[in-house]
Parts: sequence; structure tokens; C-alpha cells
Amino acid sequence: MSRTALRICPLCEATCGLVLTVDDGRVTGARGDRDDVFSKGFICPKGAAFGALDADPDRLRGPLVRVDGELREATWAEAFDAVAAGIRPVVERYGPHAVGVVLGNPNVHTMAGALYPPLLIAGLGTRSVFTASTVDQMPKHVSSGLLFGDANLIPVPDLDRTGHLLLIGANPLESNGSLCTAPDFPGRLRALRARGGTLTVIDPRRTRTARLADRHLAIRPGTDALLLAAMAHTLFEEGLADLGERATHIQGVDELAAALDDFTPEAVAAACDIDAAAIRTLTRELAAAPTAAVYGRIGSCTVPHGTLASWLVDVLNILTGNLDRPGGALFPQAATDRTPRPAGPGRGFALGRWHSRVRRHPEAKGELPLSSLAEEIDTPTAEGEPVRALVAVAANPVLSAPDGDRLDKALGGLDFMVSVDPYLNETSRHADVVLPPPPPAQSPHHDFAFNTLAVRNQVRYTRPAVPLEPGRMAETEILARLVLAATGMHGADPAAVDTLVIDQTLGKAVQAPHSPVHGRDPQELAGLLTGENGPERRLDMMLRLGPYGDGFGADRDGLTLDRLLAHPHGIDLGPLRPRLPQPLKTRSGRVELLPEPIAADLPRLRAALDGRPGGLVLVGRRHLRSNNSWMHNVPALTGGSNRCTLHLHPEDAERLGVENGQPVRVKGAGGEVTAPAEVTDAVRPGVVSLPHGWGHDRPGTRLGHAAADPGVNVNQLLDGSLLDPLSGNAVLNGVPVELAPLTAAAPERSGL
Ligand code: SF4
Repeated sequence: MSRTALRICPLCEATCGLVLTVDDGRVTGARGDRDDVFSKGFICPKGAAFGALDADPDRLRGPLVRVDGELREATWAEAFDAVAAGIRPVVERYGPHAVGVVLGNPNVHTMAGALYPPLLIAGLGTRSVFTASTVDQMPKHVSSGLLFGDANLIPVPDLDRTGHLLLIGANPLESNGSLCTAPDFPGRLRALRARGGTLTVIDPRRTRTARLADRHLAIRPGTDALLLAAMAHTLFEEGLADLGERATHIQGVDELAAALDDFTPEAVAAACDIDAAAIRTLTRELAAAPTAAVYGRIGSCTVPHGTLASWLVDVLNILTGNLDRPGGALFPQAATDRTPRPAGPGRGFALGRWHSRVRRHPEAKGELPLSSLAEEIDTPTAEGEPVRALVAVAANPVLSAPDGDRLDKALGGLDFMVSVDPYLNETSRHADVVLPPPPPAQSPHHDFAFNTLAVRNQVRYTRPAVPLEPGRMAETEILARLVLAATGMHGADPAAVDTLVIDQTLGKAVQAPHSPVHGRDPQELAGLLTGENGPERRLDMMLRLGPYGDGFGADRDGLTLDRLLAHPHGIDLGPLRPRLPQPLKTRSGRVELLPEPIAADLPRLRAALDGRPGGLVLVGRRHLRSNNSWMHNVPALTGGSNRCTLHLHPEDAERLGVENGQPVRVKGAGGEVTAPAEVTDAVRPGVVSLPHGWGHDRPGTRLGHAAADPGVNVNQLLDGSLLDPLSGNAVLNGVPVELAPLTAAAPERSGL
């Protein structure tokens, strides 16, 4: 029997509402939900392929446990017994830091991934935590932490109202947005231009987004911070800095002006390969626009000065008076945010509270660089224990971290490893236990993280579109049981995990003077929660304590889970609104424009003024039908233009004697790979581009389609030594490489 069901799409950060067609328990179609309060019917090719992804025959249907060296099918009870037996002895013998936790990007796309991994890390007490953030976005967290006192307080461009948008290192026509949740990002950019606004794109590649822009500046990779510093300098030099109404909440303006004194447009022009006059024009137009927003993304994050570039993006928004005002860059307010506390000084943001064991990288946001995972496993030191057991949740660092070959070997030497993953992929093939979550149609969905980055405040929740298949376990239960097994409570009722969180949260809430439940009985409040299970009760609690919540009866019109369920297409909570100074958590209670760690890193940027890389450098590339390493096994999402080819400019191709389609050996500090050339003037001369997430050619995986067209792992060109020092983020863009054309008969992938 055919029916439809609503499901928020988990396949990128845009969070579109989908209408799924379900036939006999299988998803057979997907279209955009026109009634969705946020996405209003938008869908992209990935969302349209939801059914194919959901029904991928290579998805594991039950747990696997390694016996006599081989992964074999097992019961859930056997699998969790093996997890407890594998992790606890390591903790007891070597201490908690000997157990590493790796969280991959899909964690932020599931409810379970938001609710349980923090409990796992806290319960283990480990400092060996690694996530996809340090190959992607940690610079933005660090700059927000330093500026605003909260690493998760990230302003987003007010796309629907701005008059002038400057994108640097961002390609939302392919990515559909990142650290800026906006269904139909392309349509919103077209609407900006249609209402007379200006779109400028700064990118070494002429991307689809750049082609839509009024102006495209093909900057030299890795020099974004220099360009942005020169723009900030110009604002001061030409008297264009105007903080507007938020000035009383901002400190450090004079110190900032002095610190940027020598970053003139003329001084950065050669390094950036952008005329000084063009930089001044760009700056004047930004300052003159009635409203404007600067937005930087992965191309400006995954570079040697990623934190400085991320900081300077917000510096420009602040100096032009565009931070925290409509049409500028604003702080979203999600429905599950904590109860807003009164404005005032906070604890501030600290970096380097502990360090990695081998190369002493400072932690950032409680995480160590993913680039250091391999050495934290394979390198003994006089002090501290190597990582001997690993918990990987939705993580494939063999492909997503630098030097996958080294990590591949290191994983093979672990005492124990458990992967929560639907696939037997390049990383989970090393696990002793694999715990597969059900396909997305069988899971509920709410976007805890992405709503804090959304260009419009709204809230949506979808229950599972189809029931769990026999033998499947809900992802929330898998992770709750994993928490118990890893933390010495194996065998306890998984519902106890949710009950514990609810009791602790309500216990704190009733003691907080600003809470709507101040002074009430937490047990009485817990008894008021609705929901069919623990995760739903936790969602209900967060909604009711949140900024739009009913405060457990304090506001009869406020949000509850019941009210949300009565609005299956979501509830619109209005456009973004100015919020300063309330969300600031700096020690001063103000925006701290020139934090000390930033000031201390500026000499490194100053040294880059003299940089003129002579050889070829590598940058990444994103495709609309792809998302990191996890969608290459779906035929509908591969092929055509979504191929692992090496883009290079015709001038470089001619100089090196490379023909279109010819295999080219690319060599970097970490190794070499061979990929077919795609000669195109969409990259600037001196720059080559490979997409990431490919390299599905290792034995022991179960990714039939991906293995048929494996591509190469671009991260093998990196040795893991290049990091942005403040954030620990891997440098993935602007990396020096050498090329050598091969004959057509050359092997697809070569060793070191
Ligand atoms: S844009 Fe993103 S959220 Fe929307 S349908 Fe495509 S993959 Fe899904």
C-alpha cells in the first residue's frame, strides 16, 4: 500500500523538508515539502535520491563481531558484550585517555548523534576526542569562542534581507550551505540579485556560485586572511569603520586598528594576487552598502591562517556595523537553545586546557586535531599512554583525515575498536565490533545543531517515516547502550541514560534564578514530559526550557513537543533578530575584538606577506551530489560531472604536457595519487583541484558501487603536519604539490 510520510532531509546542512512516498515499508520516492515552513518545497538531487540511499543493499542489517580475525554476524547482545569486554580493560589498565573517540560529520545529521556522544565522552572521561570539525570548521568555532565567549555562537548572513553579500571560500551552489543553514541557498542568492543586491565571490576557482556573482576575484589559495586584514585596515585608514548601534557592546577597536596597521592593500596585493585598487573598491562598497554580510567557509577555514580568516570575517561585519542587525550577520536563536540567561560577563573561552601527547597540539573546544589521530595511536612517548581502543561513530577518518595510509595501519594495531556505522567502509573494516544504525527513514529527526545556524528561526521534528525493520535497533538505543557498555554500566536499562540526563537537567534548571521553572520540583516537571521514548522526552524538555518554550506551564502559548507534533510541517519562529549583548559569554561581557591568542598569531600572518609560492598548489572541490565520503555508493549520486578528476588550468596543462583525460601523478608531502586530468579554466593558473572523500579501493570493505569507481584519496597527499595552530584544523587548501603526466596505462593508484 502506498502512502506518504514527512522527513527532514539529513543529507546536508540545508535541512529541507521532504515528502517521502512509502510503498510496503520501502521509500520509493521523495519530493520537496511545499508546506515546510523553512524549505517551502526545495529539494536537490541528494534529497531526491533519499530512497536509493535508504535502501542501499550494502547497508549492514545487523551487528558484526570479529571472531578469529573475521567480522561475523552477531546478535545485539553479543555485540554489546564484546564492546564492554573490549573497552573496559583498556580503561582499567591504561586510564581513560587510552580510549579515543572519533565522531564523523554525519553525527550532526542525526538526533542520536546530538544526544549521546557528549555522554559517552563525559562518561569515559577521555581527552582523546577527535571529530570532523578539525578537518573542516574548527577555526570558526575558535574565532567565535574568542570574540563572543562561546564557540557555538556563530553569526550567519541574513541572506533574505541583506543588500550585499561577500562570500569567501564558499560554494553554496554545490554545498547548499555550511555553517549557514538555508534551504534553497541558490534561490536565496538569486533573490538577492533580483532585489538589486550585490554578490561578490572570492575563490581560486570559478565555481557555480562565482558564475552567479556580480564580481569574482580569483584569490591565491591560502591568502584569505591577508585580503580580509587589508580590507579591515582600509576601513580604518579611510575612516569607514562604523560600529553602529552595537558599539557599546564591543571593545578593543583602537587596539585592532593598531594591530592591522601594516596590512595595507598594497602590502597584501602580491601575496593574494589581487590588485590593491580592487581591494579598496571591495572595501568601500562593503562599507557603503545599506546592509551587508561577509561569510567565509571551508576554503577560508582549511588554510594555515584559518582562525585569523574566520575572525576577520566577523571583524569586517563588526567594523561595518553589520553584526547583529537585520540584513547583516545575526545570531540565530534555536528552539532547543538553553534558557537565555541575563546579559553579563561569562566564563570566557579557553584554548589549550590540555595538549595532544605526541606533538603537544592544544585542545580546542575539547578536541584534539584529527590530523594527530594516527600518531596518538602509533607513537609511544615517555609520558602518557597511546590510544589503544577507539570508538568511532559515523566516522571514516581513513578517508577524511590526512595520511590515510598511516592511519589505516595504526587502526590495525589497536587493542580494540568499535564503529557505529551503516557501512563496512575504509575505517569500520578495522573494527572488532560494528554496530549499524537503521536507514534514515527508520529514525526520527530534529536538527539540534543546524537550527543554531539557520537563516530563519524555526523548529521542525519528524518521527520515523517507517517502522524499524525486524532485527534493527534504533540509533538512539544503540548509542545509549554503547554509553553504558563503554562506561562500566553494561547491561543497565538504556532508558536510564535518558532519565539521568532529564533528572540532572531539571535539577539544575530549578536552581537557576532566570529559569522559568526556578524553585519548582524536578520530579513533578519530569512527570509532565511527553513523548513516546527517552529521546522524545529529552526533546520535549529542551523545547519547554528553551527560549520559545512553555516553561512547563509558565507560558501557555509556548512550545512543547505536543505542540510541535501538531505542526508536522514545522513552526516558523520568525526572522533572525538582534540579540546582543545577551548571548555573549566573554569575561568582559562584550565582544572582544582583539583577543590575546589572535594578537599573538598576527606576526605569523605578517610573515606571510612575503609569501609568493612559485609551484602548483592544491585546493579541494565539492559536488552537489556528494557529501564527504558517505554518498559514493549510490549510483544515482555518482557519475557524470561527479567524478574524482584533477582540475588544472590549460596554461599549466600545456606547460606540463598534460592532455585532457590523461592520468596524472600528483605528489604531496604525504604521498602520491594518480587521477585523470580535467583541463579547465575554472581553476586559476597555478592551482589544481581534487574532490575529497574518494579512495574506495581498500580491501575488506562492502561498498560495491563505490569500489567500482573508487577515485583517489586526496588526503593521502598530506602528511598531517600542516595545521592552523590556534584551532588544530588541517590545512587542506593551498597545499604544494607536483604533477607528472603518465601514460594512459598507468595504475589508478600508486604507493609512496
Ligand atoms: S539541499 Fe540538502 S537538505 Fe535539501 S534536499 Fe538537498 S541534501 Fe537534502
